[in-house]
Amino acid sequence: MSLAIVYSRANIGIEAPLVTVETHLSSGLPGFSIVGLPETAVKESKERVRSAILNSRLEFPAKRITVNLAPADLPKTGGRFDLAIAVGILAASGQLDTSQLGKLEFMGELALSGELRPVPGILPGLMAGRDGQRHSIIPRANAEEAALLQEQGVSVCEHLLELVKHLKGDQTLAGIEPLEPVNPLLTESLDDVVGQEQAQRALLIAAAGGHNLLMRGPPGTGKTMLANRLPSILPPLEIKAALEVAALRSIAGLPCNTDSMHQAPFRAPHHTASAVALVGGGRQVNAGEISLAHGGVLFLDELPEFSRHVLEVLREPIESGSILISRAAYQTRLPASFQLVAAMNPCPCGYYGDSERDCRCTPDRIRQYQQRISGPLLDRIDIHIDLQRLGKEERKLLLQKKGSNNKSKQLRKQVSLARERQLKRAGKLNAHLNQAEIKRYCRPAAAGRKMLEQAMEQLKLSTRAYFRILKVARSIADLNNAAELENGYLLEAVAYRKFDRQDC
Ligand SMILES: [Zn+2]
Repeated sequence: MSLAIVYSRANIGIEAPLVTVETHLSSGLPGFSIVGLPETAVKESKERVRSAILNSRLEFPAKRITVNLAPADLPKTGGRFDLAIAVGILAASGQLDTSQLGKLEFMGELALSGELRPVPGILPGLMAGRDGQRHSIIPRANAEEAALLQEQGVSVCEHLLELVKHLKGDQTLAGIEPLEPVNPLLTESLDDVVGQEQAQRALLIAAAGGHNLLMRGPPGTGKTMLANRLPSILPPLEIKAALEVAALRSIAGLPCNTDSMHQAPFRAPHHTASAVALVGGGRQVNAGEISLAHGGVLFLDELPEFSRHVLEVLREPIESGSILISRAAYQTRLPASFQLVAAMNPCPCGYYGDSERDCRCTPDRIRQYQQRISGPLLDRIDIHIDLQRLGKEERKLLLQKKGSNNKSKQLRKQVSLARERQLKRAGKLNAHLNQAEIKRYCRPAAAGRKMLEQAMEQLKLSTRAYFRILKVARSIADLNNAAELENGYLLEAVAYRKFDRQDC
């Protein structure tokens, strides 16, 4: 047998297309060539594979060796195919039994010594392998990540020789111990937050319906503190979303473990972040902040300080829940269904409208500053609130108050119930309803509609704002387990359209 076929997985975003590694040995001048990999990667891989085989005291065949990684047009990077190439050479030269290779997939980089090194983005590869009903063999150093999958069907090894013994039936490689999912740890909760009741209420509604939220207020009013605590009232991620998040973290080279995998993520990129850092991309497709926030919260503090371009690129993922990354040779879609929470000062100096300090900005500068948030972006944010600094007396009173234990836990339960109602009714959260669905599921009674129309006219709100108001009112009703959009809910939702009005 001088031809061997071995399977591996490439990695593009969170996709892991199958790669067939064909190894052919022929007589003639000894040589070793790999086709289907970029030039530099080939050179390095050849050196590693040859040394690893020799250092494992196996035979590197003195033949003409041709390795083909198919499909050829698939972008392939890094050393993840080393192991499959080595297995192919050993099989084609009769040092390994080839009969079971069709049921296996190999991923792993080889050290010159024959030891296996971890590869990034292993999780997508394992998920794809599972769907293809093959057993995956990977480096032991990737075991922790592999354990997230909660599946049998993966073996780990530390050295090429260990794998050879396994394939010869002399020893069995260790499997993966599936880990019990841990309940998310709540590091920062609302339990210790007193005051800012209106903002906490807005946070609850935003969580219930998946609504984007904009907070405006002077420095020190707790905007960041509140945003940080939103994940504590979001329900734990379902296994599908949790695995997607883990896979995205995996390709970004971030740690993933069972402790954190079900916790809704929270990402807070700095306002100097580039568009690529935010949405992802790069030569090897990397997950950006919006994808790392998938299933959780993307917090943009000091929103007007972000470049206009960066904010513009957010519009597509906010609408579609994913981002398309296009490269010359291929394109891939990364999940990016996040809840946007943004915060901003009311003016460049921060103190416009503050009760304690004077604002030194001219009206023109204040207007310019607020207009940095483009209409289309503002339009995609359902809930706007103003935060006020507390007066001295109020603060004294609050100091005597204590937080309440289990507040986040209780709110999270309310959010879960409200979300269940939405999913049962429309199959999606209220924030994601389209216009036809809003008309269908968020119909106020005649009296409510009339009242709403009057309020709209008085406040000069747009038609688009009207639909946002209905969605938010629906979420308030869902928190109250109410079928009807009562007038009180509608009025509360109107109050969350602060920045649509002409006075700011
Ligand atoms: Zn100012």
